[in-house]
Amino acid sequence: MDRRNTVQKELIYDAVMSYSGHPSAEDVYREISSRHSTISKATVYRNLSLLAEDGKIGRVESFANSETHYDHRTDKHYHGYCRKCGKIVDIDLSYDNRLAEKALPMEDGFSITSHELIFEGICKECREKEKKNGTEGIKNREESSDGICR
Ligand SMILES: [Zn+2]
Ligand SMILES: [Zn+2]
Repeated sequence: MDRRNTVQKELIYDAVMSYSGHPSAEDVYREISSRHSTISKATVYRNLSLLAEDGKIGRVESFANSETHYDHRTDKHYHGYCRKCGKIVDIDLSYDNRLAEKALPMEDGFSITSHELIFEGICKECREKEKKNGTEGIKNREESSDGICR
C-alpha cells in the first residue's frame, strides 16, 4: 500500500517536472492517464496537493478561472495570466520581500506571511490567433495589467 502510494506520487511529480509551463491539475491527470489508465483522477489531484504542501512543486491559484495550476519551479516568483485561454506564464520580475513589510493589514492581528502577484494579459499564441483572424481592438483588451495581492 505504502509502496504503491510512493510510486504514484513519483509518477505525478515526474509529470509536473516534464512541463516547462504551468499545467492545471486536469492537464496532469490527462497526461498520466494516457500512459497509466488505472490511476484515478482523485489520486492525481490528492497527490498534487500533497506535493505542493511539501514544497516539492509550486502551486498557482488562478482567481479568474478558479483552476489550480502547478509549477516545476518552487522558488517564489510572479505569474502572468492570459485572459483569453487561461494560460499561466512566469513573469521576469524579482520577488520583492519588502512589499510584505510595506503592507499594513486593515484587520487587527492579521499577520502577513507572503504575497502573490498575478499580472493579466494575453499570451503570444492568443495574440497570434487574433492577428490571423484580423481582429482589431486587441489594444482595448491589452491595457489591463492589474495585480492581485494576498
Ligand atoms: Zn492565451
Ligand atoms: Zn511559475
